[in-house]
Amino acid sequence: MTTRKSIPEPHRDKLREIRAIFLDVDGVLTDGSIVYTSGGVESKAFHVQDGLGIRLAMEKGLRVGLITGRRSEVVERRARELGITDLYQGSLDKASVLDEIEAVYDLKDEQVAYMGDDILDLPVLRRVGFSAAPANAHPAVLQAVDFVTGNTGGNGAVREMIDYILAATDNATGT
Ligand SMILES: [Mg+2]
Repeated sequence: MTTRKSIPEPHRDKLREIRAIFLDVDGVLTDGSIVYTSGGVESKAFHVQDGLGIRLAMEKGLRVGLITGRRSEVVERRARELGITDLYQGSLDKASVLDEIEAVYDLKDEQVAYMGDDILDLPVLRRVGFSAAPANAHPAVLQAVDFVTGNTGGNGAVREMIDYILAATDNATGT
């Protein structure tokens, strides 16, 4: 388990600033598979532990949102289920979305954490206060981020990142 003490000091300082967590969807909240049913409907698998992590982060007062380059109904449904209202779909220029989010919520780059897995995410990953990627992200992304999770996308990577952020900021752990 991650405790505050096991987090390197430079990360702890960055994490204490974080007010919002934004996530890519495909390859981050999912394993990257895009499955079509015979009827042509798109389906994706989400990990229950990621869902609980998102709820925990929201309970701690962090804003959580999704920024995806694709568009699908299942993502809308998952977002609704988790109480996520900041859902940006079909957003290929993710840096512009970040600008928009920061303007709406009066946030600075330093106050945002972001997890992405591919080169489309790099413009955001390079700007934010804390950047993370799942273990199986594109090599260029793995090189660019502050934190690489042990878990792969869709298999608890998001929960691992959220646990890390919460451990850095949670004084109640006393560690
Ligand atoms: Mg992705």
